[in-house]
Amino acid sequence: MAGGWSSDGAVQDQIDATIEDAVQRARSALPRGEGLANCEECGAAIPRARREAIPGVRLCVNCQSEHDKEQVNQGGYNRRGSKDSQLR
Ligand SMILES: [Zn+2]
Repeated sequence: MAGGWSSDGAVQDQIDATIEDAVQRARSALPRGEGLANCEECGAAIPRARREAIPGVRLCVNCQSEHDKEQVNQGGYNRRGSKDSQLR
């Protein structure tokens, strides 16, 4: 039983590190320059404060968080994910 717990913890540590790495890469990949007044994805208005805070922002908060999740899925431990997409 004790062994099971410790190996769970190790896996969780790896996942955390992967997410952090992917978020950092997503941040550094953000386009520079002028942001959009409306979300590229859903057309919702992007508040000026958000555009000023994030130069080149193209997505509203909701879509950005969805994209962040996708970036995480693409970032290293996606063997299961890519197998699923081949089955589609
Ligand atoms: Zn949106």
